[in-house]
Amino acid sequence: MITTVGLIGEPVAHSVSPAFQNAAFRHYGLADQYVLWPTPLAELEDRVNKLRVEGMRGANVTLPHKMAVLPLLDELDAAAAAVEAVNTIVRDETGRLRGLNTDVPGFLRSLTTAGVDPTNTHCVMLGAGGAARAVAFALIDAGAQSLTIVNRTPERAEALLADVLAVIEHEPKLRFLGLNDSDLQHVIAEATILINATSVGLDKQTSPLSMEFIEPHLLVVDLIYGKTPLLEMAEQRGAQTQDGLEMLVQQGALAFEAWTGLDAPVDIMRIAAQQALEERT
Ligand code: NAP
Repeated sequence: MITTVGLIGEPVAHSVSPAFQNAAFRHYGLADQYVLWPTPLAELEDRVNKLRVEGMRGANVTLPHKMAVLPLLDELDAAAAAVEAVNTIVRDETGRLRGLNTDVPGFLRSLTTAGVDPTNTHCVMLGAGGAARAVAFALIDAGAQSLTIVNRTPERAEALLADVLAVIEHEPKLRFLGLNDSDLQHVIAEATILINATSVGLDKQTSPLSMEFIEPHLLVVDLIYGKTPLLEMAEQRGAQTQDGLEMLVQQGALAFEAWTGLDAPVDIMRIAAQQALEERT
């Protein structure tokens, strides 16, 4: 095995990316190995520069370095430039490093798996952090008719709205609502897609919304991996649900394709990710 890719972040020990990326390399009979590279900020530049060495394919980047890595790279794809965050680095044959954001198309591919096209839909997203940024740009880029951002801290949601408005070409309806806003139930009732991009539910005990907000016609996506109280409630209400593992696998599949030029074996990657997640919990 030869280490050619890895995950740069801190902490990274919990990640299921090695399991499903290595499953994809084995599928093609490649000797590549995807490893964990726990990296404090002080070592980020060194870590990134090591990717320039011949034979390396690149890396994934996770918290807390998705933004800090930008100035260390030679170029960015359109999604990374818009979101101002990189989750994938690809080394070309000359050693130049290109930063991609595969969370953006990965989220859209996860909607495709669910059979939902966000074009012309009304969407409601809870959260305004890093994951929410990728989702907001993805939905607007895909032609959503409206996006309502619901966040505990208004300033963060307003900053995200301003950033999205600065790069979009068409004019979807964008707005912010507080978690306790009296309009929230009505806005969710009008929506097609409801996304939880907050970390509420990571404990598998709490939900960002109560049952009465969930309508049976919704696709409810929770970016948290595995079943959350929100998804359980949504199932009870008869809504379609999807947890965050599909976005994780899809962003990883796009990274694999960028590193290798091969079609990602998505079904194999999904099964490996599910197994790794079950072993972890
Ligand atoms: P982040 O930047 O720290 O943002 C956290 C978000 O959660 C913020 O909007 C924050 O609101 C909100 N929040 C946290 N605690 C809250 C509470 N008690 N009540 C209400 N809102 C609360 O985190 P992130 O990187 O965006 O990650 C968010 C979630 O997405 C995590 O669960 C993560 O596991 C998941 N994720 C999934 C994928 C995937 O591929 N599926 C990728 C990335 C992240 P404030 O702004 O008010 O603090």
